[in-house]
Amino acid sequence: MSLRVALISTPWPLFNRPSLQLGNLKAFLQREFPKGKVEAHHLYLDIAESLGYEIYRSISQTSWLSESCFAGLLYPGRIPLLERFWKRHAKGLSLKQDFREICGNLQTESDRILAAISWSSYRLIGFSICFNQLTSSLYFIHKIKKVAPDSKIVIGGSACSGEMGSSLLKTFAGIDFVVTGEGEKPLLCLLRRLSARKPLFEPEPYPGLLTRQDGYATGFSQLSNLDDLPVPDFSDFFNRVAAMSPEKRFLPGLPLEMSRGCWWRKPSEALTERGCAFCNLNLQWQGYRAKSFTRILTEIRSLVATYKVLTLSFMDNLLPPAELRDLFLQIAALQKDFRFFAEIRATTGTKDLEAMAEAGMAEVQVGIEALSTRLLRKMNKGTTAIQNLQVMKHCEASDLPRLTSNLIIHFPGSDGEDVKETLENLRYALPFRPLKTTPFWLGYGSPIWSNPDAYGIRKIQNHPWYANIFPKEILGTLTLMIQAYQGGVMEQKRMWRPVSQAIQAWNKSYSALHRSRSSKDPILSYQDGKDFMIIRELRNDREALTHRLHGTSRGIYLFCEENREIKEILHRYPGFGEEKVLPFLTMMREKKLMFREGERYLSLAVPGKGYGSRRIR
Ligand code: SF4
Repeated sequence: MSLRVALISTPWPLFNRPSLQLGNLKAFLQREFPKGKVEAHHLYLDIAESLGYEIYRSISQTSWLSESCFAGLLYPGRIPLLERFWKRHAKGLSLKQDFREICGNLQTESDRILAAISWSSYRLIGFSICFNQLTSSLYFIHKIKKVAPDSKIVIGGSACSGEMGSSLLKTFAGIDFVVTGEGEKPLLCLLRRLSARKPLFEPEPYPGLLTRQDGYATGFSQLSNLDDLPVPDFSDFFNRVAAMSPEKRFLPGLPLEMSRGCWWRKPSEALTERGCAFCNLNLQWQGYRAKSFTRILTEIRSLVATYKVLTLSFMDNLLPPAELRDLFLQIAALQKDFRFFAEIRATTGTKDLEAMAEAGMAEVQVGIEALSTRLLRKMNKGTTAIQNLQVMKHCEASDLPRLTSNLIIHFPGSDGEDVKETLENLRYALPFRPLKTTPFWLGYGSPIWSNPDAYGIRKIQNHPWYANIFPKEILGTLTLMIQAYQGGVMEQKRMWRPVSQAIQAWNKSYSALHRSRSSKDPILSYQDGKDFMIIRELRNDREALTHRLHGTSRGIYLFCEENREIKEILHRYPGFGEEKVLPFLTMMREKKLMFREGERYLSLAVPGKGYGSRRIR
């Protein structure tokens, strides 16, 4: 008889696409361990279907709400406390159900799921636990272990990295193993061990696989070449959607993976850490690996042919740095009406963005994080305010991907100068899509967490709000994702208040300008007449303001579509002379038609819709 394996993903990931982790692991284990039978259960899909997609979506967007609901099922005695906590975090959301109703509905659906599946028929049950999935996974682990005490439970995922994973193993008796790092090789090792003729588990240390016996084996076991992975298997998810009643059925999107880890590894100024100071997205990986472009194209072709969908999201922390343009031009050559989403760095060039748009990239999440170069340096982001404004401007053009991005406030170690620079630069960003303010949160394992002294913080511990979720004796032994610290927190909140207010005003004026016109024209755009150009600036309740530039002025403005140093401009237009160029640039800056940072200048208007819109050149 084949050894049965269940792979599980519980609420609260996006309900409308399958789990990449489950798809990858299923395909890999099925290929490497053919005598096993692997089934993927997207329990989040069942819960979303029964709860209602809108309510599910609203809850899933807030970490504390997500973790509260299943805490109510896990610890029913804490419902009054959780209910008060919930009310504080659900303010302003129209959920149409109160906390107790939601818990009741989750209970009913969870009971149905638990009864519908023969859990004891699985030898191994693996839970993929990422952000917002902790209490829901712990609840199902607890219940499943009761009905299937002989089935082994293994957990893995970003919420199980490092001490987080070992603390879960120590605290919850229902968990037998933890995978730290990527799951393919440790899970395969575990399956081979469980299927051995002598099934007693031998506690030999295997890097990346934590057991009760030798729970603290260090290191990772990861694939050296991502091209060796099979194409992910999402069939269980699609079969489940197909079995839904017509009014519940929807068209799923697909997750895609080009790489694991992050190639941005610049050391911090103190040379103690690498990468962005606030980021803990790469705890699961050692180094950076990317699939070859041939392989990515094959995978896209195969997934689209199998599942017949055209909405795909690149799940990479950020896209690979090299030859992106070539890749997206090749994707464009497939001539399908794709709709892609990806996360990119602010340094992504215009040519790359154009190729992405040509391939069908509809939206990009850009790592902006700050509009102050001083602050970006403290974050070790490796970008500048002018680069951020440049990518924001490019993505404002109607033929390039739409940009979504965050502006981090309350960053430890930020000061009045950073705030001042942010407010000043923000005045030049007003024609572009507003950023979303995101209060800094301290992630377990991030460079700041590892080196708190450098950022003036101390007394790091689990976030105190977890005390609402877990009983004291449980919380005392856990290391969790969201951490708290002491060191200037109140001062940071006070200092950044004007930025939050300025961003609220930005949102208001941006939507008012777009609402008041039938066209989706950019707020600041230009029409090019070849020997002259017209810059048009939309205004609320007034006629658009226009500016006309001729000859060299036009040339300089177009030359600065990418930010340029003054000496490049003078070199390009030698006949014009510094005495004319500098006053012109100053005037353009005062009119907020150009931005200056140090010696560099950037034009802020984008090609207007229908005229001057670019094509791949
Ligand atoms: S925020 Fe993005 S670019 Fe920075 S280290 Fe994390 S994954 Fe890399």
